[in-house]
Amino acid sequence: MITKKEITPAKATHPGILIKDELDATPDLNQKLLAKQLDVKPSFLNEIIKGKRPITPDIAVALEAALGISAEYWIRFQSQYEIDLARRKERNIEKVENIEKWKRIKEIVPVRYLNKHNYLSETLVEDIEKVLKIYNVATVDEINNELLCFEEAQSAYYRKSDKLKIDNKNMFAWCALAKYEAKRQQVSTFNIDAIDALIVELNRLFYENVDTLQKVKSVLNKYGIKFLLIEKLEKTPVDGFTFWSGSNPVIALSLRHNRIDNFAFTVMHEIGHIDLHLRKDKEQSFIYFTKKSSIGEQEDAANSYAQEQLISNDVWQSIKDKDAMSDDEMIAIGDELKINPAIILGRICYDKNNYARKTKIDKTLR
Ligand SMILES: [Zn+2]
Repeated sequence: MITKKEITPAKATHPGILIKDELDATPDLNQKLLAKQLDVKPSFLNEIIKGKRPITPDIAVALEAALGISAEYWIRFQSQYEIDLARRKERNIEKVENIEKWKRIKEIVPVRYLNKHNYLSETLVEDIEKVLKIYNVATVDEINNELLCFEEAQSAYYRKSDKLKIDNKNMFAWCALAKYEAKRQQVSTFNIDAIDALIVELNRLFYENVDTLQKVKSVLNKYGIKFLLIEKLEKTPVDGFTFWSGSNPVIALSLRHNRIDNFAFTVMHEIGHIDLHLRKDKEQSFIYFTKKSSIGEQEDAANSYAQEQLISNDVWQSIKDKDAMSDDEMIAIGDELKINPAIILGRICYDKNNYARKTKIDKTLR
């Protein structure tokens, strides 16, 4: 008799129908006689039979005695009826659907991170809407599908040994947030021909290294490039991401290292992608992994570009005895060439693949 559990039952059956069935099957019993046994008015019993009144525990106990059907059974029947009614309510159907949606979102979206960064609100409906907006999709299924595509596309760039250290769900969320935030940033018109002038301004800012993040953002925005800092998530070894947002290129950084030389290099690397690759292809995007694995031609090109723009090859070759240079000499050359000495030191360490050198040169991004 108990209806099978379904999310939305086709109909809700009131236990009053069972009283009617029992009366129909018992020739010497009618509503009036049964009402008398139950010590209620016939009209009261009639209302129960018609489903207008619930079967209470008091009635259930009396029915048990009169009809031989257990009180527990009557109460279970009544509860099932009420649950079915609730399941059929439009509002509750929506509520249940949203809870189910949120459960699925939690599996593929780092909701704790979103909550920590104030993307979420007080209600589930708003949160679901916000998540879909961040991922720029209409349904939770689409997030899942795009995540699968992302995983497949990215796996080509990971070394096998790195796979366990990377959470694709988090990587994808980081990229989605970058795209979402990019849309909200207003900047000037982008002009690819002004990149040389932009690089001159950036190098000056790297040299001065005062309130650098804010100033770099202003300069990039002035030249029509959007600039974002998105805090990285767990197992998200990403340094930078560059892509188009409408007619503006975007540079998003995770800023894992608070070092001026790393920061300068990453910014120039991303500008390299814009100058060399994105200018020809509006669909392209580049993720700059911290663990540079199977680096492609384009990554090599962006690295060379960054190196050349920070310290040109001519300048680099003109510096004598680089390996033996003291900190003071680096600082002096930096001041002469208006290059931050930390960038000179970074280049020497990179060339010699030796990062253990002790130094008094300040590498802090300020
Ligand atoms: Zn790159």
